[in-house]
Amino acid sequence: MFTKARLQLTLFYTLLFFVLFWVFSFGIYFWMDRSFGEGYISEVKQQQTQKGDHQGEFDDSQQTLTTIAGDVALKRLLTVLITINSILLFIIPIISWYLAKKSLEPIQAAHEKQNQFVADASHELRTPISIMIAEIEVALKKERAEKDYKIILKSNKEELERLGTLVKNLLFLARDGVNKQHKRMEEIDLTDLLSTLIIQFKPIYQKKQILIELHPAEDSVTMKGNFSDIRQLFLNLIDNAIKYTDKGRIDIDLRQTNKFVRVNVSDTGMGISQKNQKLLFDRFYRVEMARSETKGYGLGLSICKAIVESYHGSIGVNSIVNQGSVFTVILPK
Ligand code: ADP
Repeated sequence: MFTKARLQLTLFYTLLFFVLFWVFSFGIYFWMDRSFGEGYISEVKQQQTQKGDHQGEFDDSQQTLTTIAGDVALKRLLTVLITINSILLFIIPIISWYLAKKSLEPIQAAHEKQNQFVADASHELRTPISIMIAEIEVALKKERAEKDYKIILKSNKEELERLGTLVKNLLFLARDGVNKQHKRMEEIDLTDLLSTLIIQFKPIYQKKQILIELHPAEDSVTMKGNFSDIRQLFLNLIDNAIKYTDKGRIDIDLRQTNKFVRVNVSDTGMGISQKNQKLLFDRFYRVEMARSETKGYGLGLSICKAIVESYHGSIGVNSIVNQGSVFTVILPK
């Protein structure tokens, strides 16, 4: 697909360059033709007539010499132009081929990324479907007790819930996350939002013996944004901090300046190696599946990144393995 596009673009660049060089060459030739030899004589005569000065007029031999010199110069110019254009005949297609490659590179990279995303999404969608089909096939093989059907239905329900979450996340990344034009923007009190999230997560983090504390620099830290986006952003970060921490603590720091709000979500969990920190925000990236008992899809942080970028903010991570991680979000107010 890209080879064909490259060939077409090469052809287009080649034609464009040739037309430009030919127009330029013809332009130079005709301009010189008018300035050398007879062109030069008639111009001098015209200027002298205008000034009323006839003393410096050309005699016949001077005219012949000037015409011959003009012809020689023109012939040389023609030879130079033909030589340059002949050389360009070979060079231009090579340059065009290279330029076409350079022009297509970003499109090709975006296309490959998109393909990878679709392939990963299809793979992740297929897994729960295959599990459900296998379970149903086993259930249908023979008559079973009611409790066995219940176990299978419960497992099917779990897979369907996972599927639902995955589809919701995929839709967010494909559509909503990048397009906040049509979303309702409102004044959000981040202190309120984060306190509410902490209360909602309480049953989960208490079970894992984690302590969570919010440290707002002021009573109220506010920003303008879409409530559901901003909630989703911090929900993902707190959810991860809880998922990847056992018997530790999570601290959420909240600061604001006139223009920005800064939120740090720090945990004392398992941490992330330098190598993995660079890839964390890529879609479907997960650090060694075995590390986490909770099944995730590796989409949470790419959703955070998509939200933050749609607000022209930034998100980053600082982490040490076995000591903990700090996720920092900076958003314009
Ligand atoms: P998910 O958690 O669903 O796998 P995410 O995109 O939210 O997907 O996270 C990607 C990976 O980053 C996770 O698989 C996990 O290994 C790592 N990670 C994210 N947050 C933390 C954290 N606070 N501590 C340690 N590892 C983390």
